Amino acid sequence: MGEPSRYAIIGSGSAGFGAARTIRERDPEARISLVTISSLPFYNRYDLPKLFLGVEDWRDLLAVPTEVFDMLDIQLRRASRVVEVDGRNLTIQFAHNEVMGFDRLLVCSGGGGYLPAALSDYRHLLHDFGSFEQAVVTRKAVPKGGTVIMLGGDMIGLDLAFTLVDTGHKVILVTNDHTFWPHQIAPEERGELLDALTATGIEIIDGRRPTAIEDIGGRLPRRMVFSDGTTASGNVIMAFCGQQPSVEFLLSAGIDIERGILVNTQLQSSNDAIWAAGDVCQIWSDAGKGYKFYHGWKNVRIMGEIAARNMTGAEEAFDDPDPLAIRVEDGRIWSSFWEH
Ligand SMILES: Cc1cc2nc3c(=O)[nH]c(=O)nc-3n(C[C@H](O)[C@H](O)[C@H](O)COP(=O)(O)OP(=O)(O)OC[C@H]3O[C@@H](n4cnc5c(N)ncnc54)[C@H](O)[C@@H]3O)c2cc1C
Repeated sequence: MGEPSRYAIIGSGSAGFGAARTIRERDPEARISLVTISSLPFYNRYDLPKLFLGVEDWRDLLAVPTEVFDMLDIQLRRASRVVEVDGRNLTIQFAHNEVMGFDRLLVCSGGGGYLPAALSDYRHLLHDFGSFEQAVVTRKAVPKGGTVIMLGGDMIGLDLAFTLVDTGHKVILVTNDHTFWPHQIAPEERGELLDALTATGIEIIDGRRPTAIEDIGGRLPRRMVFSDGTTASGNVIMAFCGQQPSVEFLLSAGIDIERGILVNTQLQSSNDAIWAAGDVCQIWSDAGKGYKFYHGWKNVRIMGEIAARNMTGAEEAFDDPDPLAIRVEDGRIWSSFWEH
């Protein structure tokens, strides 16, 4: 018998965990390492708004019990940041300098919040909500009845906005091209959707361009300045302008990257030993004759499972899923993006 295959998976979110479980089902002997920057095991990030509903313990957000990793003999490497992938020698380098070899690598590193370039100098004045730790900090910065200014308002942000309004906070939404991302909204649909947000209690600032963010201290310490000289103040300012794939550690991997990792329909990159799944990848679409992102919890999970099956010998394609749908139902916005 030969040595067991070494599978490395970067990212322990929906795509990465689903892949690890699938590899274990198909290869009982495999050595599986699941790597994450997070100090927490796999939890449901879409549940983070629950922090405003009184949830304080990260265990209440876990997607799977922590024992699962031992049961499936998956080595979960928390608090481990990959800084480089060497696609020729098939190694991963961590920030703490360790180097780990692999036979097959799956990259499921997801994405971070995108911030329009015009505001990049003000990132330190923004509050984040992409991880449990960031959400805890943000919740503490918003007092009871406090005011949140939300830039963009993608579907991740809008879900949080509804929870904030339902829990007695004020939300000021500054719209831009990323409002309703990842949906692509036709101009004639936009008005009805914005009206539905207003009816829910969200204050809308539409058609004004933010140029600066200021820390002015006092009761409402954050101020957004617009190009026409007007301002809006709140306890925190958050940007929800879609996702930017996390690929910065892949520059030496020898794989093709545009915005995300470019993969074929079987989710294999231009390096035969490296696959990608989830928010980090752009998948070739035969129908569209181009590479596309497919966001949404269900798509991401399916991608992880398909990639894992292909890494273990299958030849399955990720077929174009149904496009995401959004509409106003009984006065409230409904989106298939929120279906888990
Ligand atoms: C508040 C909130 C609400 C959301 N609501 C919804 C929703 O309603 N519906 C929906 O479809 N989606 C929602 N999302 C988005 C959803 O969480 C993502 O689409 C999904 O998590 C993507 O899964 P993924 O497995 O591709 O990557 P992620 O879940 O983003 O996981 C990325 C993983 O990669 C790891 N990683 C990244 N870089 C490195 C590195 N250099 N070294 C080591 N590890 C690394 C991270 O630590 C993490 O474990 C929400 C997200 C947030 C934050």
